Amino acid sequence: MTERYQLFIGGQWRDSADGRTMPAVNPFNQEVWAQIPVATKGDVADALAAARRAYEGGWRQTSGLERASLIHRLADLIDANAGRLALLETTDNGKVIRETTSQMGYAARVYRFFAGYADKIWGQVIPLDQKGVMDMALREPYGIIAAITAWNSPITLLANKLAPALAAGNCVVVKPSEHASATTLEFAKLVEQAGFPAGVFNVVCGEAEVGKALVDNPQVDKVSFTGSPAVGREIAAMAGRNLRPVTLELGGKSPNIIFADADLDRAVVGALAGIFGATGQTCIAGSRLLVQRPVYEEVVSRLAERAGRIVMGDPRDPATEMGTAANAPQFNRILGFIESAKQDGARLVAGGGRASDGALASGFFVQPTIFADVHNEMGLAREEIFGPVLGIIPFDTEEEAIAIGNDTPYGLAAGIWTQDINRAMRMVHAIRSGVVWVNTYRALAAQGPFGGTKDSGFGRERGEQGLLEFTTTKNVMIDFSGDVRDPFSMKL
Ligand code: NAD
Repeated sequence: MTERYQLFIGGQWRDSADGRTMPAVNPFNQEVWAQIPVATKGDVADALAAARRAYEGGWRQTSGLERASLIHRLADLIDANAGRLALLETTDNGKVIRETTSQMGYAARVYRFFAGYADKIWGQVIPLDQKGVMDMALREPYGIIAAITAWNSPITLLANKLAPALAAGNCVVVKPSEHASATTLEFAKLVEQAGFPAGVFNVVCGEAEVGKALVDNPQVDKVSFTGSPAVGREIAAMAGRNLRPVTLELGGKSPNIIFADADLDRAVVGALAGIFGATGQTCIAGSRLLVQRPVYEEVVSRLAERAGRIVMGDPRDPATEMGTAANAPQFNRILGFIESAKQDGARLVAGGGRASDGALASGFFVQPTIFADVHNEMGLAREEIFGPVLGIIPFDTEEEAIAIGNDTPYGLAAGIWTQDINRAMRMVHAIRSGVVWVNTYRALAAQGPFGGTKDSGFGRERGEQGLLEFTTTKNVMIDFSGDVRDPFSMKL
């Protein structure tokens, strides 16, 4: 039976005002398994008004300890429902169950990490030149946060925003992707169960128009967006017109760089994780693999051999290693990039098209695909494909690796594989990206700040910086000198 979801606004479950819905499609078998409500502009305005009421009506006055205990309760509920949520996520976006299961554990961890901060958001007392004047810089919540997320990891992308936003005392309205909205609505049931006051967290669903209505509303105090650079530009422009701050977590074309002195067993696994983990549908995909010439052919052949053995199948089966592309447009886009790379003359060493054997025929399966002898100017090396397609680029010197690695509009992540600590540190400093992994790849933690430079966006999520993104500073000066001042001169 098709599940029918409702919007979550001001603590109420309701259909959209005009009753419109959109289908949730399982990318493994293309079955419509749920109907998702599409919010109207009025629904979005209602959600923002509910958030405002909740904020002014008491949430901003809650103690850090109260917020911490609610967030901890939410984390416990995520753990208790992890299996169910993971299965739903897999059904909705085709991510393999082993990944969605670990993502639920990660999400709970993120909520616990930020719950720990809720009663420790301290400002500063600042010594001044003036005698008899005290200065305090307070950290306060912004108020109402508009959060917009992508389809590839709805629950964890939301956790990165919602956990710190709530810990800092904000209220939130989220719009998940139209391609994967169900788990965010299921998650809202846990928020309700945890006992958060009505309006502190609200979910509106729908396509781009709903996102625009949300971001472009003056009720919003800060925007937090995860998605593509093209949409990130539009979001920043809208937020700019309304003079609202914005955090942008955008795409990448990350270099994963293997030097000849690397431990190749580990490096090959890191390269596989970088591009075939999550079917390559991850912002941090190590989609450009740079390999130093003495080990180039060995790495190419080891990767091609392992890619050919990747187990594809029902993403709900724990034995499955790679799932489907998450939706039809994404599937066609990936196949288009593969065809262009062939025309550009890159050497195909694995995969190269749709996977349609047996049970794969009804799903959006793409073969794990590897092109060798790629030039950094080719479309394959320049554009974010967001799929299981790797381009391998040979290099000779460290300087060349740095030049190729940085020759991209993006700056999200990079991997360095070497056993030489001096080289590792030189590379860490030379690569322009928000994240650098040394002898590991696609490793994440709640404590470490994450985000990009250049076209990969700005602002940070997770870690202490991720918390501070949801606070604004209020400076307070208290004059206890008793002096009567000269009204016509600034007091210094
Ligand atoms: P997208 O930009 O197409 O959509 C993201 C969200 O924005 C969706 O909810 C969508 O409905 C909404 N949206 C679209 N147009 C809008 C508009 N004009 N105004 C307001 N909202 C609008 O991205 P996607 O295809 O869902 O996700 C893939 C992209 O997300 C990739 O580029 C990927 O790298 C990026 N991503 C980045 C991170 C990160 O943390 N840096 C994480 C995951 C995904």
